[in-house]
Amino acid sequence: MSRMASDAGSKKQERLADRANTISFWGAFETRFPTEVECIQELLMSFAEDGLIVCHFCNSSKTQKVDLRSFKCNDCKKYFFFTAGSFFDHVRHIRALMGAIWLLGNGVRFSACHFAELAGIAKSTATGMVKKVALLIYRTMNDAEDTLNSSEFAKIFIRRSLCTPALEHPRAEQRCAEEEYVANSPEVQIAAHNELLSGLSSIETTVYNHLSSSPQHLDALEVQLNMETRVISAAVSSLELAGLIERTSGDNYVRPQHKIFVPALFGNRDCPPEEEIYSHSVVAFVQSSMHGIARKYLQLYIAVYLCFANRRKWGVGSILSACRRSKPIYLSEIEAFVTPLFVKVGRLDSAA
Ligand SMILES: [Zn+2]
Repeated sequence: MSRMASDAGSKKQERLADRANTISFWGAFETRFPTEVECIQELLMSFAEDGLIVCHFCNSSKTQKVDLRSFKCNDCKKYFFFTAGSFFDHVRHIRALMGAIWLLGNGVRFSACHFAELAGIAKSTATGMVKKVALLIYRTMNDAEDTLNSSEFAKIFIRRSLCTPALEHPRAEQRCAEEEYVANSPEVQIAAHNELLSGLSSIETTVYNHLSSSPQHLDALEVQLNMETRVISAAVSSLELAGLIERTSGDNYVRPQHKIFVPALFGNRDCPPEEEIYSHSVVAFVQSSMHGIARKYLQLYIAVYLCFANRRKWGVGSILSACRRSKPIYLSEIEAFVTPLFVKVGRLDSAA
């Protein structure tokens, strides 16, 4: 058998094993939470333990239970859902959402399609739920955590999103992210600009210094600098290639005023081995369950990967506890989410 065929075979085996594992964990979930009622009871218990059953209107904790989900405030006499204002606010399929948390918290590697099938919900709903929990996990990650350039994951950017430029490959989103990052970081731009300038030859520097924001003709340069045509032409060509000057009309040249310099360090630097291992693991994780993703959501899939990779930190209990402390996360926030250029990688099990 060729190596490619055997790779494909082992990937298929892995996928089948993942599927069987998902089914087994889903079975355990169904036994424990056969209906929506058991899920809401479980939530109610954990909210009560944390002292989170308070009136949504006046914050009073003097409340009485009316039915499964609603309470009445003894102070202002209004009725409210105990999940109001929480992560579970306005969630129609509480059981499916709990199921997603169950699978993620048990480190199960699953596809949104398979989860949708098991939970009896639409695939788009299933994807939205996983992203919602992932966004929550991302938001609980410490700002001081290590980051990695998202270009290390470019291999899996094969799906389009709202950020993909028209008529371009989904991977073009990476270029847009880099340009935006640089455009918003003057110090990076200045450093890149200075690096370009320091790499110039003495003739190129002379020509560059002589040009300004008002166009100058090549002939005039020749006279003013007292240099040969071929020398000036060569210098002008390399300055133009470097993006330091621009041709306006005919043989007129200017220094562009608002030029974004994209430092060459993005995407083609040498990656330290431990970072390379990390990005390879995430790439393999994504490929095994869904082939590829849109760059826009990379950070969310890294959060999903953390549930799988850091078993000690992201169990069912810790995800639920983060959910209880979180405000609602609406679909519009997920849609508006864009992976930053440098992604947070999270902490992995140190013992692993
Ligand atoms: Zn009240």
